Amino acid sequence: MFDHLVVGAGFAGAVVAERLASQLGKKVLIIDKRPHIGGNAYDRLDEAGILIHEYGPHIFHTGSARIFQYLSQFTAWRPYEHRVIASVDGKLVPFPINVDTVNVLYGTDLNEEEVEALFRDRAEPIAHPKTSEDAVVSKIGRELYEKFFRGYTRKMWGLDPSELDASVAARVPARTNRDDRYFTDEFQAMPLEGFTRMFERMLAHPNITVRLKTDYREIDAGEYREMIYTGPVDAFFDHRFGKLPYRSIDFRFETHDVPVFQPGAVVNYPNDHDYTRITEFKYLTGQVHDKTTVVYEYPTADGDPYYPVPRPENAELYRKYKELADQTPHVRFVGRLATYRYYNMDQVVGQALATFDQIARSRPSLEISDIDRRVSDVDLGPADALQPPKRGRKSAAA
Ligand code: FAD
Ligand code: UDP
Repeated sequence: MFDHLVVGAGFAGAVVAERLASQLGKKVLIIDKRPHIGGNAYDRLDEAGILIHEYGPHIFHTGSARIFQYLSQFTAWRPYEHRVIASVDGKLVPFPINVDTVNVLYGTDLNEEEVEALFRDRAEPIAHPKTSEDAVVSKIGRELYEKFFRGYTRKMWGLDPSELDASVAARVPARTNRDDRYFTDEFQAMPLEGFTRMFERMLAHPNITVRLKTDYREIDAGEYREMIYTGPVDAFFDHRFGKLPYRSIDFRFETHDVPVFQPGAVVNYPNDHDYTRITEFKYLTGQVHDKTTVVYEYPTADGDPYYPVPRPENAELYRKYKELADQTPHVRFVGRLATYRYYNMDQVVGQALATFDQIARSRPSLEISDIDRRVSDVDLGPADALQPPKRGRKSAAA
């Protein structure tokens, strides 16, 4: 008999399982229908011995000291600041758009103030930007929107940016300085021995049993008291209200017999090819090898659910499932698929830590002082799990 069944061994499931076992002494069964732990962050050595991310490039970044410190119990880090190049009009330019992007693209030599003025001149006034098209056009105008955002977004989502929430394109806002990092979070680093090794350490607790290649429907309800579910929420309810759209990706891996394939970690192709981007893993992992492996991403409607699709009708449908989820006794829904949120890894960790806090606080048999002590073990810093990242700070990761 287990206290908890955790469905899914990705970030959401692994964090809750680890906390329940190590902080409350609970007996936890964690299962995954895949043959490995780590969820979509799973990495492994390929046939050439190069560390690859099976489900696409995963770069860790967070503005939360609490989340960074929590994960630091299970891994050392390699400082890494991610940079992306966009291939536009036959030129390779920094992305997100910054001063250098504008200058290379137009053959100009504008300074920061002049680029700011250029954006101001081109921006179309939109009082309340609702869509991803609004979000970009209202900041930098239509021409740059069409060069960098429209084609990429159509490929990525199978939708025009005017059909997607502003929050999607707002993930990569244009800049009027020369910062060419993809993220500006305070903590930017990759797990030194990879994500899978980190998950192995999280789940190594003697109270945790891991069962792979197992669907939760195969587990007898008599085997556990409470479930933590991290799979797609609509699948849990047999798609009762209809399918929630999730975007998927076909990954095409290639190993090349050269040490370096392309000039940076990621090259985005907003307007050419069927793929959105090519990632070369050795830049992310720092691995030294005479060969190199890259991955091409081809977005698709079918396949494993990877991305919730942020738009109003989907939010409406999700609300119905959420209501049902809230009324379902003895089951908690956590993670990117279970709460239908376009969350990064750190946000999922924050959500999972918050869920653990709720479980810990709802235990009637513990003295309040005991609960506070156990919960404060988790509070390694300010409770800022879901706060927006602090901007413009140098990396403090080490
Ligand atoms: P998942 O990792 O999806 O784990 C859920 C698990 O549940 C899966 O392993 C699944 O097999 C299992 N499961 C589902 N149904 C069942 C069932 N019925 N029975 C048993 N098991 C089940 N985030 C970043 O911070 N940085 C990045 O650079 C980044 N890049 C990304 C690139 C891509 C291509 C994708 C798809 C995502 C990226 N993310 C990135 C987001 C990151 O992958 C997620 O935030 C995180 O992995 C979500 O963790 P999770 O535990 O919620 O879900
Ligand atoms: N985007 C774009 N052009 C780019 C990169 C991103 O239009 O060159 C838009 C696109 O809609 C994309 C979104 O910004 O889906 C978020 O990009 P991000 O790199 O954060 O996507 P992820 O890494 O989550 O796939």
